[in-house]
Amino acid sequence: MPKMLRIALFGPQGSGKGTQAEMLAKKYNLPVLSTGEVFRKEIKEQTELGKMASDLINRGQLVPDEITNGIVLGELRAPKYQNGFILDGYPRNMNQLDILEKNIGLDWAILLLISDEEVQERLASRRVCSSCGAIYNIINKPSKKEEVCDICGGKLITRDDDKPEAIAKRLQIYHRETEQIINYYTEKGKIIKVDGAGLIEEVFEKIVEKLGK
Ligand SMILES: [Zn+2]
Repeated sequence: MPKMLRIALFGPQGSGKGTQAEMLAKKYNLPVLSTGEVFRKEIKEQTELGKMASDLINRGQLVPDEITNGIVLGELRAPKYQNGFILDGYPRNMNQLDILEKNIGLDWAILLLISDEEVQERLASRRVCSSCGAIYNIINKPSKKEEVCDICGGKLITRDDDKPEAIAKRLQIYHRETEQIINYYTEKGKIIKVDGAGLIEEVFEKIVEKLGK
């Protein structure tokens, strides 16, 4: 019988969290549930939920916890999650954690450690195609021709979200929200902390080493 593995990944934007989630999913044959992706999909398909979410986001507001909790718990009841799952972007605060722990619970919380300076550097080097949305990085994933999209020839730009002031603000929120979550799982003995600054493969190997093969 396969071992039950319910994990959530934590780390700031730019920590490589999404990439690690996908790699772990492959290795352990588990589905990833990314709240960001769920919302993007709902918005794209213009469902009731998607319309409400995009409305809130356009007004600069967050999607309320009750809605996010409902979506995540509803999703996690599907049979494909019965042997475990990898959460990316959830729980984001103590209210969400509370609901998750009351209903399902985690086996491990994996925290990717990366300094604010490193995050600033990584995100500042990110470029996005202004026409097709393809993502590049001038350090580790450059376009063939500077400032030009390989796919569509569009102009590459730095998103407002990736400008230093915006990143600093997001990091502040991240630290405030995540600290309590990390404390909670540390007290429960369910935390795995991994240096997130190395190469993608190295970070992955360190996580696997701690989780067990
Ligand atoms: Zn493009």
